[in-house]
Amino acid sequence: MSAPKLKAPRGTFDVLGEQSTVRATVEARARAILEGAGYERIETPTLEATELFARGVGASTDIVQKEMYTLTDGGGRSLTLRPEGTAPVCRAYVEHGMHKRPQPVKLWYLSSFFRYERAQAGRYRQFWQVGAEALGSEDPAVDAESIVLLGALLAELGVNARLRLSSLGSPASRTRYREHLQTHLREHEASLSEEVRGRIDLNPLRAFDSDHEGTKSAMRSAPRLLDYLEDEDRAHFEEVCALLSEAEMLYAVDPSLVRGLDYYTRTVFEFTSEDLGAQSGVGGGGRYDGLVAELGGPPTAGMGWAAGIERILLAGSPPASGTATPDIYVSWTGSARRAAFGVLREARSAGLTAQMELANRSLKGQLGQAGKMGARYVAIVDEAETMLKDMQGGGMQEKMATGTVVHAVLRRLRDL
Ligand code: AMP
Repeated sequence: MSAPKLKAPRGTFDVLGEQSTVRATVEARARAILEGAGYERIETPTLEATELFARGVGASTDIVQKEMYTLTDGGGRSLTLRPEGTAPVCRAYVEHGMHKRPQPVKLWYLSSFFRYERAQAGRYRQFWQVGAEALGSEDPAVDAESIVLLGALLAELGVNARLRLSSLGSPASRTRYREHLQTHLREHEASLSEEVRGRIDLNPLRAFDSDHEGTKSAMRSAPRLLDYLEDEDRAHFEEVCALLSEAEMLYAVDPSLVRGLDYYTRTVFEFTSEDLGAQSGVGGGGRYDGLVAELGGPPTAGMGWAAGIERILLAGSPPASGTATPDIYVSWTGSARRAAFGVLREARSAGLTAQMELANRSLKGQLGQAGKMGARYVAIVDEAETMLKDMQGGGMQEKMATGTVVHAVLRRLRDL
């Protein structure tokens, strides 16, 4: 009896072939855009102390309440697979005393994250995010620059996305607003979904995210957080909007925009794409001026975003550059393996992309394989003599000494 086959866990996937090439392109574009704007790459550990997320993401959030992969290690410590990137970046900022550097400190990452969610198209349990965080300045230009950079990245990757924007104000105005919202929700309790009803005390703002018809209609008449902003926060938001307009960035102010994480203050935003169906969020973020202090650091402003790589790939059309189609496929028969290996080495040292027959196929099979790979030339090596075949155009064939074949290919490519 054969052993049972194993599969990748539900909500996870392997990255294969062309997918890894396209992902490399996304990473290269993100690097060019973000490093060009002064963002420095950061890598944080996959595992962090559970407390980091409990404190940094917020105890009332879905992530902390039901989506974390938490384990106890051999030393009895509670560790969690990172469900998001902002809290770890803030932890690193504090741990490495980055507040002593010129501010803002700008950091970017591209890593995988883990959430125990209902897996479906566009929603996974291990997924990749590219993210950017700017720490140490509350200037509205930080908000605008950060949003414009994500907009530029999405545009470059062919993602057709709309930008929605709002402000959550300060924790004090949000507390005031929450009480009004809770009163409104209690008045409409009968039409709310059970889930929203159960969260009136804990997290009333999430009612804006609900897809439930009754809840949606009750929310249409709900008080708006934007109307409760303090003057300073309103001025900050107006400046962010003005700067975005200055950068010719299209946006819609959407007072119902609330983000699923507790740490946001002031600016929040989201890019959504109609090409994505139910999981329409491509990327989003906002300002989190209280988070670094919450994690034991000095009072420090922060602004950042994360965008899902899988959603970018679903909604966009990133150029699949980087697939190395061989300039030359080195084919061989009989006892010419060593001579062919020599041609392969010589071709690569001359800077050609080269592949060699590695599966001992028949000559016909080898030519078929070279065709599938899109090879420009095939060298059929037979010890001292080699037949060079052009796989395009007229299908030229020419016999030559094996030692001259790489030179011949270089000359032909140069003369093209
Ligand atoms: P968040 O960290 O929840 O603000 O999410 C930021 C972005 O990450 C979203 O807009 C999605 O593009 C992506 N994302 C979040 N959760 C998932 C998931 N479970 N699967 C795939 N992508 C996700």
